[in-house]
Amino acid sequence: MSLQARKIRLIMSLRRAGITDTRVLAALERIPREHFVLPHFHDQAYEDQALPIAQGQTISQPQVVALMTEALQVEKSHKVLEIGTGSGYQAAVLSRLARRVYTIERFASLLKEAEARFHALRIHNITSKVADGGKGWKEQAPFDRIIVTAAADTVPQVLVDQLAEGGIMVVPVGAERGDQVLLRLTKMPNGLHQEVLSEVRFVPLVGGAPPEEEGRVARAAQNGRS
Ligand code: SAH
Repeated sequence: MSLQARKIRLIMSLRRAGITDTRVLAALERIPREHFVLPHFHDQAYEDQALPIAQGQTISQPQVVALMTEALQVEKSHKVLEIGTGSGYQAAVLSRLARRVYTIERFASLLKEAEARFHALRIHNITSKVADGGKGWKEQAPFDRIIVTAAADTVPQVLVDQLAEGGIMVVPVGAERGDQVLLRLTKMPNGLHQEVLSEVRFVPLVGGAPPEEEGRVARAAQNGRS
């Protein structure tokens, strides 16, 4: 079966699973997921499953990307923050729906690959950086929408603070190997309105400074800095 036929089959299964927002389905149809997976997994790009990427991370299952994107209710005027760029797939999907997407990843090597994909696909409304996403992106706040694609222990207050009034955040919350739930939080004048959307399984949101990766450690050593 061709990738195109597999893609159509996937979109139909997402519809059956209850994804009804046609803008979300169109964005998923438009972004070539095969560009975001490792070459070895090309032929599985349109199976409804998470797949491994570098650094022990994963590209989320299409149904989860669809569910989170739909729940976020993104509008064309919106400024969206994503925590956990990973392959860049979720950011690329959001770039079709929002005015601008800001995305933060803690692994420099993953971000570099994601940026190369955005460039190759001529996506120009994504701004990215390597940092601890748990701290948000203060200079660019407030955000109309925030999506966290790694599981936090509790709802990150810093991110709530960077959400605009009336803004929506979608975030998986729970322990790394325990039960995690996908939450949708809406910032109302009288506080946060919280809804549980589904049970999910995400890699953990890891705090602290971004890790030194092998390439960078080696360069730092050459420069006599470590
Ligand atoms: N949205 C991604 C999938 C994300 S997997 C995609 O579409 O492919 C979760 C990602 O979150 C991983 O790449 C992981 O390195 C990153 N991550 C974990 N903790 C983080 C943190 N504190 N700040 C930024 N990124 C983080």
